[in-house]
Amino acid sequence: MAESLISSYKKLMEKAKNLFILQSAAAIVHWDMETKMPPKAIKLRSLQLAMLSRIGHKMSTDPEIGGLLEDIMKHPEYERLNAVQKRNMYLIKKHYDEQTKLPEELVVEIARQEAIAVDAWKKAKAAKNFSMFKPELEKIVELKKKAAEILMEVKETATPYDALIDIFEPKMTAETISKVFDELKEDLVSLLRKCETAPKQPNISILKRKVPVDIQRKISKALAEFVGYDIESKEAGGRIDETEHPFTTGYYDDVRITTHYYEDTFASSLFSVLHEGGHAIYEQNLNPEWIFQPVGTGCSSGFHESQSRFVENIIGRSREFWIYFLPKLKELTGNIFSDVDLDTFVHAINQVKPSKIRVEADEVTYCLHIIIRFNLERDIFADKITVAELPEIWNQSYKDYLGIEIENDSEGVMQDTHWASGLYGYFPSYALGNIYSGQILAKMEKDLPDWRNQIAKGNFQNIKQWLVKNVHSYGDLYDPADLIKKITGEELSVKPYLNYLNEKYSKLYGF
Ligand code: ZN
Repeated sequence: MAESLISSYKKLMEKAKNLFILQSAAAIVHWDMETKMPPKAIKLRSLQLAMLSRIGHKMSTDPEIGGLLEDIMKHPEYERLNAVQKRNMYLIKKHYDEQTKLPEELVVEIARQEAIAVDAWKKAKAAKNFSMFKPELEKIVELKKKAAEILMEVKETATPYDALIDIFEPKMTAETISKVFDELKEDLVSLLRKCETAPKQPNISILKRKVPVDIQRKISKALAEFVGYDIESKEAGGRIDETEHPFTTGYYDDVRITTHYYEDTFASSLFSVLHEGGHAIYEQNLNPEWIFQPVGTGCSSGFHESQSRFVENIIGRSREFWIYFLPKLKELTGNIFSDVDLDTFVHAINQVKPSKIRVEADEVTYCLHIIIRFNLERDIFADKITVAELPEIWNQSYKDYLGIEIENDSEGVMQDTHWASGLYGYFPSYALGNIYSGQILAKMEKDLPDWRNQIAKGNFQNIKQWLVKNVHSYGDLYDPADLIKKITGEELSVKPYLNYLNEKYSKLYGF
């Protein structure tokens, strides 16, 4: 390959590397803010984070990047770059074009309005008063519409909302999502009715038994060990800390998760550790050769969620996992669960019950919460509905989809922070994650027909290796639609996920 092409590509990748190093530092500074920072440090911390984000923006809009991109793409030997190099070029160009087309004034205004809207949201939520939040939400939606219109041109999407979806799920469109969600909704509602009317119902009182926090920490360690998320050895690349809202952050050899411990809802931390553990092993098992390259990141928010929900639900809420782990749980908790049998426990942790709150939803109703939010976002950005109409449509949707009466907006339209934080187009990825996880499971079952027996013996190793080989190691080499096809040979389809749910819940509920 020509010297000049190699040298330009190297220079460009050096710039990308510096940005990844900076971003990984910002992530740890942010992690510290959530976990360890003393209260008085908040002012200094916001200055530190703002500074890092300003430096990051400057680095990613550096005109030299534009020059190098052009040199490489116009080079007569461009075609000789390999697939990974071309993908790196594509991802850098996409990011650069978007970052440089958004006026800095707008970016700053959005950041400022997000902070104001989050503050208003917190107060309005505490006061159960949507009208306190409404004017700030209207402003952030207007600003996001402006940004979406600019991004729509750069990304060449059909609608402004598609441009927002593309940030989290590249190339996905509202049209495709509407189609798969319609199919999903119909089956989920019918499955929900079957569970609700089944004669066999779970006894969930066992989940309210008090488990001391120090014992819950030991349970977390045992779960981390099961999924192969090392938090203890000298070679460890992970750790578990405590925050109100669990999250995962980090990069390759330093990926951290958080959880929360409540004495009277021990299952909450248990499943959050499995969920975040699923995110963490994805990040840790990206192709090591691709560190500091754009291709060395997760494929999309939806794919990330497919990995966390795979570990949390498909593995962690399976009967087989509890064949292995219930005796361990009993051992760790003394006599708290000594009278509980396997089937009672497994049915309890898989209770299907419509609820008002998304984060507490079970596997059957979870996607219905997402579909409601997606419909509202799509219609807001198509100017079909207004911010003022959101509470009424929200409440009606909960009645129609879940048969639930929303009594105040704090447990309704204001329950999630996403809209205040300017995250539009993000919600669909939660449900897409479930859909992908079903397709991935169907494929894995062909390669590892014995996987359930392995789990019952406490062996997650082969499954993990399968996920690393077939999902994690691809990083961001493909857009999500291409990756799911690469892994499963099929296009995006809700059928495998619905089959998984129907099979599981008909057994649990006996219908
Ligand atoms: Zn997640």
